[in-house]
Amino acid sequence: MSKATVVIAYILLIAGIATAQPGERPAYALVVHGGAGAISKDMPDSIEANYRAGLNAALDAGEAVLASGGAAEDAVVAAIVVLENDPLFNAGRGAVLNAEGAAELDVSLMRGSDKACGAAAAIRTVKNPITLARAIMERSPHVFFAAEGAERFAEASGLEIVDPEYFVTERRREAWRRREAEDAKGTVGAVALDRDGNLAAGTSTGGTSFKTPGRVGDSPVIGAGTYADNATCAVSSTGHGELFIRNVVAFRIAALMAFANLSLDDAANEVVRKLLAPGDGGVIAVDARGNVATPFNTEGMFRGAAIAGNERTIAIWNP
Ligand code: ASP
Repeated sequence: MSKATVVIAYILLIAGIATAQPGERPAYALVVHGGAGAISKDMPDSIEANYRAGLNAALDAGEAVLASGGAAEDAVVAAIVVLENDPLFNAGRGAVLNAEGAAELDVSLMRGSDKACGAAAAIRTVKNPITLARAIMERSPHVFFAAEGAERFAEASGLEIVDPEYFVTERRREAWRRREAEDAKGTVGAVALDRDGNLAAGTSTGGTSFKTPGRVGDSPVIGAGTYADNATCAVSSTGHGELFIRNVVAFRIAALMAFANLSLDDAANEVVRKLLAPGDGGVIAVDARGNVATPFNTEGMFRGAAIAGNERTIAIWNP
């Protein structure tokens, strides 16, 4: 290659517009999900468009971080904040309500470079739970906080605190009044690979509708709902939390890569399609080479990917 070609290739790579060659690591990769479940293909076009717009906005926020050389965990937080603020998704504002009609939020974040992580369960007052997961990861010696103690930590960390009613939308209140158990689809998550080759994963949810107060799903459980290790992959799960905890889904995918030498795609499919049963849920995952896997065994999974050098994709059902 001539010197000029090398310089041009380098500039393109820096700009994040270089087309990745097979086997070559893209400059960065970001994948988001907005939950898996019984997502009917008869969904009105206008609602489908709103879901797509929400996923697109989350990719915009996360990709802006990665394209400017930011860290994977910052991209994950930026993407998830957008989804938590979007009332369409079951995370932050618009979360499903528990048996008592309150939103109780679970969240986690993990960084692959040093396996630092932060998680919180049964949150009722922190506007953006993913920012609490980051504060726990960065500013405390602990990993997992719950309920009031978590909220006090959030307050002391200067995070935005809201009235519990902030999370309750009219749509969710109406479903609760009618005792309509909604499919919990709408949990959100993100996984990212940054320019430095570091991975991160995060997941945020209101859990399952009509859940018993205090019930905690897989989303805040490191190894089940979220896992990231630069040596293998970053994973965010969505589906029936109890099954994801019992099967340690996110870590199991990483373990199949580490101990059984499976590729990301094979490991993720092994767990989602062979170990779990139809209807259980799905995952999004990225490995340190920028390979991406998004298997699910439900009717659909809201998802999107922004990979440097590739066209952005947003999808809900299988092709
Ligand atoms: N996994 C979440 C939970 O069980 C729900 C979901 O992802 O839809 O809390």
